[in-house]
Amino acid sequence: MALPPISRRHFLYSASALAATLAIKPGKVFAAATPLDEFGYGDVMLLSELHNRQLQNTHEILMGLSDDALLKPFRQMVGQPAPGEDLGGWYCYDPHYNPSDVGTGFAPTCTFGQWVSALARSYAIRPDPKVREKVLRLNRLYAQTISPEYYSLKSRFPGYCYDKLVCGLIDSHQYAGDPDAYQILEHTTDTALPNLPGHAVEHGTVWRANPDPGYTWDELYTISENLFLAYQRGAGKRYRELGAQYLDDTYYDPLAAGQSDLAGRHAYSHVNSLCSAMQAYLTLGSEKHLRAAKNGFEFLSAQSYATGGWGPDEELRAPGSPDVYNSLTKTHHSFETPCGSYAHFKLTRYLLRVTRESRYGDTMERVMYNTILGAKPLQADGRTFYYSDYNFKGGKFFHDARWPCCSGTMPQIATDYNISTYLRDPQGIYVNLYIPSTLRWKQNGAQVSLTQKTEYPFESAIEIQITTSRAAEFDIHLRIPEWAEGASIAVNGKRNSASVVPGQFATLRRTWKSGDRIELDLPLKNRINPLDAAHSNVVALMSGPLVLFAMTDGTPSLTSRQLLAARKTSRQTWQAETSAGPLKLLPWTSIADEPYTTYLVMS
Ligand SMILES: [Zn+2]
Repeated sequence: MALPPISRRHFLYSASALAATLAIKPGKVFAAATPLDEFGYGDVMLLSELHNRQLQNTHEILMGLSDDALLKPFRQMVGQPAPGEDLGGWYCYDPHYNPSDVGTGFAPTCTFGQWVSALARSYAIRPDPKVREKVLRLNRLYAQTISPEYYSLKSRFPGYCYDKLVCGLIDSHQYAGDPDAYQILEHTTDTALPNLPGHAVEHGTVWRANPDPGYTWDELYTISENLFLAYQRGAGKRYRELGAQYLDDTYYDPLAAGQSDLAGRHAYSHVNSLCSAMQAYLTLGSEKHLRAAKNGFEFLSAQSYATGGWGPDEELRAPGSPDVYNSLTKTHHSFETPCGSYAHFKLTRYLLRVTRESRYGDTMERVMYNTILGAKPLQADGRTFYYSDYNFKGGKFFHDARWPCCSGTMPQIATDYNISTYLRDPQGIYVNLYIPSTLRWKQNGAQVSLTQKTEYPFESAIEIQITTSRAAEFDIHLRIPEWAEGASIAVNGKRNSASVVPGQFATLRRTWKSGDRIELDLPLKNRINPLDAAHSNVVALMSGPLVLFAMTDGTPSLTSRQLLAARKTSRQTWQAETSAGPLKLLPWTSIADEPYTTYLVMS
């Protein structure tokens, strides 16, 4: 289906508004017989300054944290000597923690597993022995602290922390070759399980006795994903069973039946929970869980901002809710960016692998350029970019607390651009993201490399060069975004237009040889994206996948005609002419600390 973006968004909005009263018939979910495979982290080399800068920033900060500082709260919680620096913020253990303060001591050790995971993935991208040594050393030091006490009432979120520890250990096994990772995982699981409720428990639900309600909720509905991955990677059959045991069917069942039950739920963790539903499909073949993830994602898209972000004040909304519009004046906490985009990337990558529908790549790209890639860099003292701000009076800012959840997911997503750019099946490869990069792989016995050269999304041209050890026949699928009317492809200078349809992958099958060259052009026409059906005069200007933010602290008056006529004045700057003078517009990645507005009200 290749509808232009505005009508598609309108369609989704109306469909989900309808679903609020009438359940959409579940229908048959199309799933290709075999999901696409991911490439390894090291098969892809990104040559984009924006992406590489984020990876380097997060990686250097993690490498700079001392072992003792990282282990300190684990050691304190189990009564061991705990020398070294106290990192503070959410990460530290404070026995006198004040529940009304979500700053210091809110979630001790919460990001440790994510940081080990990110270091292991970084090692897979660029093998540096110092990184592997640090991963192995941290796992062994952590193993010395494993104790039921850690899961006692000293930890507010034992399920959340267990989930992240599983992730760190399975990534250490897979990407850093830690020979002891699964033994440490077994010890961790044996110790954690008696202290967890045995099934998914919703945010806000009391599952253990404590006079302080701050210790009686957790995010147990997200943990199946990593348990299924542990099983898939050979950690043992028990992880398949545990993954199934912790699936949150009270959440998935209505979604699978086409009813939105997103309203009021904590945003990031429930989108992340849809990744567990996808892994239930990929591991158990459960069609119901695939339907839940697909429908959940449709409901999410219908309440998303033009940037692809969602969940103002970390809450999902009912279909057709006025809350998204109200958020433009009522909050600056519009989208939990690192955690949200990390979950968004995983979910859309799984959906793309299973359905081969290019629109999942479109939304991933939109979230990348308009949210996470323009996040302020992580700081060595734990200051972290957390919320994107879509208020009419917007600005970029760090979270109040140091080392929050988003300091765990930002290093992870910085590595995951590598595995999201290309996918494969036995017949060939899928180019999902257009990023300057080189992919190397084996195809039908030939050693092949593909290099993208492009200034996209600031320019429309993407050049792809092929090198092969010998001629080989295979497919190259190119994602043609839904908005790219007039897209064109040429191979070795010869125009190939038959198969180029916006909203689909274009498939090029031929016998490729060294020196072959593909030229893809994705015309970057301005278009306007209304907030929702009830507010069609509240719009964001878009160029290709980019939202163009108006650089102003006022409320400029202009017409949609004036906005659509905005012209590029330099590589990454646009300008619209208004009756009050010129209005500068910038992409998210070019904004530093200047005030901006995401949406403009058309007069
Ligand atoms: Zn977060």
